[in-house]
Amino acid sequence: PIPPSTPDTTADATADATATRTTAISIRNLKKSFGSNEVLKDISLEVATGEVVCVIGPSGSGKSTLLRCVNLLEEPTSGQVFVGADEMTDPDVDLDGVRRRIGMVFQSFNLFPHLTVLENLTVAQTKVLKRSRAQAREVARHNLERVGMAHKEDAYPAQLSGGQQQRVAIARSLSMDPELMLFDEPTSALDPELVGEVLAVMKSLAAEGMTMMIVTHEMAFAREVAHRVVFMDDGYVVEAGTAADVIGNPQEARTRSFLHRVL
Ligand code: ADP
Ligand code: MG
Repeated sequence: PIPPSTPDTTADATADATATRTTAISIRNLKKSFGSNEVLKDISLEVATGEVVCVIGPSGSGKSTLLRCVNLLEEPTSGQVFVGADEMTDPDVDLDGVRRRIGMVFQSFNLFPHLTVLENLTVAQTKVLKRSRAQAREVARHNLERVGMAHKEDAYPAQLSGGQQQRVAIARSLSMDPELMLFDEPTSALDPELVGEVLAVMKSLAAEGMTMMIVTHEMAFAREVAHRVVFMDDGYVVEAGTAADVIGNPQEARTRSFLHRVL
């Protein structure tokens, strides 16, 4: 496979930061149809290592499908997806191997209900990464600290609020040492008063340099945390740029009309 090119985000190619920046995700001319319904129409998008990209847009515009094409939970109809130097769309790719490097957090927290918080975090570490039980617990406890849930390691998911469950789900993802994380509306199922604690965890991950692609309706969060915002509508990237530009000063009528409805 052809390795993805490094995005030339600044005109000054001699700048050190640009020269050393690698591409975490490269999506090239991606199309996805379900039957005759073309849901993604020629999407091209790059996410640099350490970059936080928020994807916004109306319901049904293809945001989840785009995210799911990154780890090939959905198979693209055409086009290419690279994660690091690995082409996900190459039939010979080690799909499980690459997926192991990608964390995914969904709207529904998907914790195992019959396992404690700590067990939820250790099971994949021991089964998939072959870590020892002791090592897995150590990693789990470290990540529970990161999301402020260390005090609940013996609780069962049903004993936790939605916000706490989602923080545990993030810690579980982190325990696999992902090189990048995908979030699909991680706060949409939460009561409004619980949204902030999950966003705060995501903000701290961003500050630590985690590469993240986040589908969200939280415009204030996107403005504050995203390095780049991508507005999708009807299967197209209509507008992309800094949060200040796309949310603060949208150029396209469709972006303006969407923001008018959600802000
Ligand atoms: P969004 O996340 O922006 O709300 P989705 O990516 O979930 O949008 O959906 C975009 C379109 O793709 C919708 O019309 C939806 O019905 C369709 N779609 C998504 N997943 C499937 C699927 N597995 N089978 C058939 N159609 C699907
Ligand atoms: Mg969706």
